[in-house]
Amino acid sequence: MSLTVKQADGAALTARIVQDLPRSYASLGDAFFSRLPATPIPAPYLVGFSAETARLLGWPADAADDPALIEYFAGNLSRDLATEALPIATVYSGHQFGVWAGQLGDGRALTLGEIEHLGTRFEVQLKGAGLTPYSRMGDGRAVLRSSIREFLASEALHALGVPTTRALCVIGSALPIRRETVESAAVVTRIATSFVRFGHFEHFYARKRPDLLQQLADHVIERLYPACRNASDPYLALLEAVTLRTADLVAHWQAVGFCHGVMNTDNMSIAGLTIDYGPYGFLDGFDAAHICNHSDSSGRYAYDQQPQSAYWNLFCLAQGLLPLIGGKQGALRDAEDSQASEAAIAAAQNALEPFKERYTSQYQSRLRAKFGLGTQQDGDDALMQRLFGLMQACHADFTLTFRRLSKLSRDAGGDPALDNGPVRDLFLDRPGFDAWAADYRARLQSEGMDDVQRAAAMNQVNPKYILRNHLAEQAIRQAQNKDFSEVERLLLVLRHPFAEQTDAEAAYGGLPPDWAQALEVSCSS
Ligand code: AMP
Ligand code: MG
Repeated sequence: MSLTVKQADGAALTARIVQDLPRSYASLGDAFFSRLPATPIPAPYLVGFSAETARLLGWPADAADDPALIEYFAGNLSRDLATEALPIATVYSGHQFGVWAGQLGDGRALTLGEIEHLGTRFEVQLKGAGLTPYSRMGDGRAVLRSSIREFLASEALHALGVPTTRALCVIGSALPIRRETVESAAVVTRIATSFVRFGHFEHFYARKRPDLLQQLADHVIERLYPACRNASDPYLALLEAVTLRTADLVAHWQAVGFCHGVMNTDNMSIAGLTIDYGPYGFLDGFDAAHICNHSDSSGRYAYDQQPQSAYWNLFCLAQGLLPLIGGKQGALRDAEDSQASEAAIAAAQNALEPFKERYTSQYQSRLRAKFGLGTQQDGDDALMQRLFGLMQACHADFTLTFRRLSKLSRDAGGDPALDNGPVRDLFLDRPGFDAWAADYRARLQSEGMDDVQRAAAMNQVNPKYILRNHLAEQAIRQAQNKDFSEVERLLLVLRHPFAEQTDAEAAYGGLPPDWAQALEVSCSS
């Protein structure tokens, strides 16, 4: 597909989103996907557009003014591609809530093709573009509500520095979609260096196709982990590299209070990106066991379970890669020869081993930065955990606690109400907080930074603005009434989560209102 985008100076820019770039996912062959057109939606309209994502593709910020672009990202033009290849829906499998679910696949996503800009290749994918051979019981669609949530969260996480798929735009339509109630349809365009999931590997393992598994692994190594090619066992090296990226990702989630909500293996990115935003949530009042997904009755994917869940998922990936591990010069073990050798199993387990240490060191260093501690000292861990204990007991807001902590001076005047400032107001247990603050203050004395330096450093890692559910909900409700200005405003605030943005504080930087308690989000909307 060649898309002509008009630039500000009126010149036309031809943006080529194509299926035939060398080493593309589409070049892997028919066993990996089905080709089909998107199903058009009536009267598409633009709901949200990320100028920053457009820039990644080399497009102007006003690219969305072009009606052809809206038709294209609505999925309405892909049938016209008489000569060029159709989009692809990829096949994968996975473990859902700890249980093998068999074949899943892109049930409502279609990859239009790839685009290269400044040396980076991006896959461009529509989500909610209609039925595919993998839709199972679903309708292939996404509703406006969940599409706005994915759009905003992708861009918000990116602004926080967390690796994620990116969102380019949301296109809406009056097409009715039945969920718990009837809602309207939307299509999100998202981009990523790769949309390959752990579940893609599990799929070809389960199908006993080590040949396809190797093709997939070679593709991923070539595109995402080129350094693994030179390792003595490239597939083992791949497993180790994915293990480290996944550990880093989850440590970052924990540090910003992000809960994914559905960490099934089909929602785990081989590139270490946050992918498939569904019933995600950011922590408001701190609860280590917070469950953001209303359908997750056992709390499998609760906030404090995320590191463990990621590790569990890596075991599934390791199992998927077993037929490739320990092969000599590409000579594959026959997957029919049911049991992988003990040596391969031991090697795979070894490759996962660094997870715990990597996760812990990444998380600890992010945590120290959140507390403004530039050095590592005995007792730091206990001190930090004590604050989490108080936050848990008082249900203190996660984001505001850390943001306000930066205002605490290391010199006390003697009146805790004044000394401990606005952060103290978040804790009902004032004496408990004051006692902790005294110890924290004592600890700060041994830091080289003065208050101003420390506050500046802390404010670079402790966001002031996060995508709280109620903020997304306000933007969604207005968008459902055809007013998209709040989607745009919120996107702009979330672009700079660490900046003061004083005029945004009252509307976006405060505690959630009472009505936010009643908001529920669940799977596959
Ligand atoms: P999720 O956990 O929401 O990422 O989705 C799990 C599986 O269900 C994937 O194969 C999705 O493509 C599929 N799926 C989710 N929602 C729908 C839908 N509305 N129509 C078709 N497939 C869907
Ligand atoms: Mg998914």
